[in-house]
Amino acid sequence: MGDSSCIAAPSTNRAKVHGNSILFRLQGKVAIVTGGASGIGESTTHLFWKNGAKVVIADVQDELGQAISDKLGENVCYIHCDVSNEEEVINLVDTTVANFGHLDIMFNNAGIVDRPFGSILDTTKSDLERVLRVNVIGSFLGAKHAARVMVPERRGCILFTASACASIAGLASHSYVVSKHGVVGLSKNLAAELGQYGVRVNCISPSGLVTGLSLSAGQGATPEQIEAGLHELGNLKGKFLRVEDVAKAVLYLASDDGGYVSGHNLVLDGGISVVNPSIL
Ligand code: NAD
Repeated sequence: MGDSSCIAAPSTNRAKVHGNSILFRLQGKVAIVTGGASGIGESTTHLFWKNGAKVVIADVQDELGQAISDKLGENVCYIHCDVSNEEEVINLVDTTVANFGHLDIMFNNAGIVDRPFGSILDTTKSDLERVLRVNVIGSFLGAKHAARVMVPERRGCILFTASACASIAGLASHSYVVSKHGVVGLSKNLAAELGQYGVRVNCISPSGLVTGLSLSAGQGATPEQIEAGLHELGNLKGKFLRVEDVAKAVLYLASDDGGYVSGHNLVLDGGISVVNPSIL
């Protein structure tokens, strides 16, 4: 297990690395990205950082998370945090505030999947409990402890990664689908509660994309095979959803560009959920 403190590497000059064309849309903001060591979380960490935010990567993959932090420099740090463990989530939020002064953006993104779409008869109670523990309880704890520090400040932004499978049935396992419906519900309910304190709450719902998570559910399929399957299901022919596309949507919701958006579930599915299947 990694150190629970926030260890940041020496400064890296963002302007030098990325040129002068960057609009710092998150300048002065402090963000936590759970599941930030890979996939959507890693890409979002990079984009937030490029846009001027200080970012805390929270994950259970300590080597990967620390390596990203070391590469990006002093405005990024890694904290080991199992999102389903309340003490670790409290430490994550409190260490972030202690180190960076405040918390503006909490991106509850960490997630797991148990298996591909299949029979409920093959799904065990422990599969369901394991997925709910990370995807729902982890999201709940992250949101709760972010709200604890955001509400007194009368500002903040809480984000979740749900999934297109909360809109379209038959895409993923029962455990995963139940969990992502829970995340969408939590996001909307929290938006209703926290709006009075100036805290916005939204979620994004990507359709399938190739990451560690989809590979883990892919029963040995290669990234190319998974991508081919996703393309077959997709509406926007010739296009694939990439982690960078998801990160850009997250940036929109996190920044002042999305300053009046709350209670929204931003679906990134290329239109598949609204298209008549017979024309695909
Ligand atoms: P990923 O596996 O690359 O990233 C998930 C990250 O979460 C990993 O770094 C993992 O170590 C971390 N994580 C897992 N359990 C954790 C825990 N208990 N505490 C802290 N961190 C933990 O996969 P991804 O696709 O980038 O997943 C990110 C989110 O996107 C998940 O919530 C997932 O459900 C959602 N999502 C993924 C897809 C897809 O097709 N890949 C589609 C829709 C939604």
